Amino acid sequence: MGLPTREPLLGEVASVSVECSDCGRSRWWQASQLMRFPGVFTGTPLAKLSARLTCSACQEDGLPGKSISVQALFVSESARVRAEAHVLNSREVPPEVSRAIAPLRRSG
Ligand SMILES: [Zn+2]
Repeated sequence: MGLPTREPLLGEVASVSVECSDCGRSRWWQASQLMRFPGVFTGTPLAKLSARLTCSACQEDGLPGKSISVQALFVSESARVRAEAHVLNSREVPPEVSRAIAPLRRSG
C-alpha cells in the first residue's frame, strides 16, 4: 500500500482551480466544465492541463495568456470533507434540519 505514483487524471478530480499568474485571475472549474476546452478530456493528466488552457482576459489584451497554473480538488478529498460535515451535523442538528424533520413527528 502506498501513494499512487502515476499522474492524476482530470477525470479523477472534482474541481480544478485555474489561476493566471500574468493577470492574477483565478476561478474554480468543475472538471466537466474544463472538458469543453480543446484538447481537454477525462484522460488529460493534470500535469498537462495547464498547457492546454489559455487565459481569455490576457488574450484580449494581446498577451499569450499561457501562464496558467492549476490546483485540483480530488473527488476523494471532497468525499472526506462531506463525511466530516456529516459527523458535525450528527453532533448538533442545525435548525433547518430539525424543521425539515418536524412534520414527520406524530403528536399522539
Ligand atoms: Zn490572465
